[in-house]
Amino acid sequence: MYMKQANNSTTPRILLIYTGGTIGMIENPETGRLQAFKFAFLEENMPELKRLSFNVDSIQFAPPVDSSNITISHWLELAEIIESRQNDYDGFVVLHGTDTMSYTSSALSFLLKGLGKPVILTGSQLPIGRLRTDGKENLLTALQIAAARDEQGKPMVPEVCIYFNTNLMRGNRTVKVSADQFDAFVSYNYPILAHAGIDICFNTKHIQHQEDSFGFTTHRALERNISLLHLFPGITEEVVRSILTAPKLRGVVLESYGSGNAPTEDWFINLLQDAIKKEIVIVNVTQCQTGSVEMNRYETGARLAEIGVASGYDMTSETAITKLMFLLAQSLTPQEVAFHMEHSICGELTRND
Ligand code: ASP
Repeated sequence: MYMKQANNSTTPRILLIYTGGTIGMIENPETGRLQAFKFAFLEENMPELKRLSFNVDSIQFAPPVDSSNITISHWLELAEIIESRQNDYDGFVVLHGTDTMSYTSSALSFLLKGLGKPVILTGSQLPIGRLRTDGKENLLTALQIAAARDEQGKPMVPEVCIYFNTNLMRGNRTVKVSADQFDAFVSYNYPILAHAGIDICFNTKHIQHQEDSFGFTTHRALERNISLLHLFPGITEEVVRSILTAPKLRGVVLESYGSGNAPTEDWFINLLQDAIKKEIVIVNVTQCQTGSVEMNRYETGARLAEIGVASGYDMTSETAITKLMFLLAQSLTPQEVAFHMEHSICGELTRND
């Protein structure tokens, strides 16, 4: 589908990729449920798109996917679409359901590291066809951010980001925090990259202009055999064992308490230790919304560090999961994977040590 013909090589060209989600949904009159329908609807309902001062081409997933149905294959497909068209476009806007948008933006930040072009994900809480909608503003501003250039003609934000409700955030720092408010995404541990008020103000100090800094050739693949272990007081040995002994398991994100603390009971530590001996990489992130893992602050965290649990510092769970998927698909030893989990690849964590 072609929305506006590219006609000037100095005018930015943006590719709009519609994957699915509320932004392009309509109410089924019989069931009242929201369901995805043809992307052409967006053009009909947004004549504003024709007034942009840059060129926008668009493509869509067929069929569009509710983001609860997003899989690793969709992430690889998105990365492939963007990478294969990187020389044709100055930036990319990905329309995506909000439910798993933070996972997708995190996965893309690793899969597209070093791309050096804006990849802005957005969506909405209300369909674009409704009179009251956050979809129009989110889409128009995301397009403008993707097309924004500095005085040298370089992209203002050459990163994978989420734009939502006036804020541009680094994609791998975001979490979805609300099911019913327009300000549905937050970047707790990293400043916003831009704020859209009357003007779009870029927080240039915090925007990354990184070339490929990851010291090995990457392989476009993701490992599925990972798990999430969310601790709670009273969790049983059987439950922890069933997670840590799952067949083919290669990595676990451990959601611990506070600054990275967990029970010191022997059965718990022994199960983790056995998993690490079997070359399963375990990464510690905190259940708290802000702050960082610091395993040596308390005895209950220090035990984890002693047995070889890696620190996820201030990474979100969404990011720790997708980063593990990414690293475990590379030709790396478990020790190398653990090392890279503790170091930033594309701005996803901050170490204060
Ligand atoms: N269920 C929808 C999705 O994530 C919700 C949304 O788009 O906000 O695809």
